[in-house]
Amino acid sequence: MSVAGQILRKQLVKKGSDITVFEKNETHYYQPGFTMLSGGLLGSKEEDVVKASAGLLYRPVESVFDEQINIVRDEVGEFDPKQNKVITKAGKSYTYDYLIVACGNKLRYDLIEGAVDALNDPESSVGSMYDFTYAKKINQLRAKFNGGKIIATQAPMPIKCAGAPQKWVNLCEESMRVKGIRSACDIHFYTALPAMFGVKKYSDELYRLATSKHIHAHFEYDVQKVDHQRKKVYLKKIGPKSTKNEVVIESFDLLHLVPPQRPHDFVAKAAFCNDAGYVDVNKHTLQSTRFSNVFALGDCSSLPTSRTAAAVFSQSPILVYYLERQMLIDAKTTTSTSTATPITTTVAYDGYTSCPIFVGDKKLMLAEFLYDGQVSETFARFVDQRTPTTYFYYLKRYVFPHVYWNYVPLAQWFGRNGFNPPHFFLQTPSLSSGHQALHKSH
Ligand SMILES: Cc1cc2nc3c(=O)[nH]c(=O)nc-3n(C[C@H](O)[C@H](O)[C@H](O)COP(=O)(O)OP(=O)(O)OC[C@H]3O[C@@H](n4cnc5c(N)ncnc54)[C@H](O)[C@@H]3O)c2cc1C
Repeated sequence: MSVAGQILRKQLVKKGSDITVFEKNETHYYQPGFTMLSGGLLGSKEEDVVKASAGLLYRPVESVFDEQINIVRDEVGEFDPKQNKVITKAGKSYTYDYLIVACGNKLRYDLIEGAVDALNDPESSVGSMYDFTYAKKINQLRAKFNGGKIIATQAPMPIKCAGAPQKWVNLCEESMRVKGIRSACDIHFYTALPAMFGVKKYSDELYRLATSKHIHAHFEYDVQKVDHQRKKVYLKKIGPKSTKNEVVIESFDLLHLVPPQRPHDFVAKAAFCNDAGYVDVNKHTLQSTRFSNVFALGDCSSLPTSRTAAAVFSQSPILVYYLERQMLIDAKTTTSTSTATPITTTVAYDGYTSCPIFVGDKKLMLAEFLYDGQVSETFARFVDQRTPTTYFYYLKRYVFPHVYWNYVPLAQWFGRNGFNPPHFFLQTPSLSSGHQALHKSH
């Protein structure tokens, strides 16, 4: 919706149905809010959660797209970039001049033996905030918990918002303290990462905070199997120091699972994807490395940065800039270009992403960084952002959801730039040949 809104604001398409969005769902979810739901910030009673979720966590798809956008409520089944075609599961074929792929990734609970049965069993003590239904379940389990062993996991990368799994752990720990049963709870966090977080500056502090709250962190473990009847979870040791069959079997009274995440099958088999199944794009321009009229952003792209909505907000204006540039190039040439456009030194996606990590007690650490984990903090003038603050908590709890629903669809919100569009957004892209390529490869 972020890109669609910006294309309209820049008037890159004529009024009518020149811009078509394929969306299989009737509902658009604000996934960053699932942490708040599962951690109890929207309430613990079911009726409170139902009331708080409507509007905050989900809205009808139509409400996030301008009425000038043509919405096709059908599931895309195939891309044929050589013929410029999108083919839906229902078998209908649509041609395009330009294609933007933004279909996210797929939650693969099925890759953990027993996980789907465990999650779907209303009597089991297993939930997961990555899915709306399972997030509601884990919230109820957390609220009713009376003490015992809590196990939380984190699947191997790439996953959406790599800091999210420990947000739940921190909010859960806080709620046990508030209930006065903390000493009756033994909390363990098993992560596939070799540290708490991918950026050392934040990771060290997160580890210190977890340890100070007696949350036991275990690194380089991947969940293999869940036996919810016997309340056992099987965790395989991974990483360079692991031996082949080293599996830890933990018993649990409450289990929070994070699913492995993979590209959608219909994306992975398209000719514009890399071997891992992600849309292969130039990491600075978001343009396909193989088809000049194809672009991608967000979780389905090959961009080597942490997968977050915050990253998408920084990617969108860059994508729109290079889309417009390609349109201008194509308008000038009669034959279509098969090579990607050169990139300018000033307009380039730098990998910006952000992870707002709840640490409990109405405090939040706002991690912000670029490619290669280079720290880039918006509020550095005021605070070292490894320090959790109440101000960041309120930003995440109230401001971010509000701008997501109200200003992103109208192309009035530009992530870390706030309401100010980046300098290049309102310019017409330059086509002069003097552009210096930042990187030859993507
Ligand atoms: C628990 C959790 C916590 C998170 N916390 C944060 C956070 O604090 N901050 C942050 O910035 N980000 C956070 N994220 C990550 C963020 O939500 C994602 O990175 C972001 O939504 C990615 O956007 P996207 O457009 O790439 O994919 P999505 O938002 O997943 O959108 C993909 C769309 O494609 C549609 N689609 C899929 N397949 C098809 C098909 N075959 N045909 C038609 N349509 C299809 C889907 O229905 C969906 O609407 C969190 C995510 C989760 C799950």
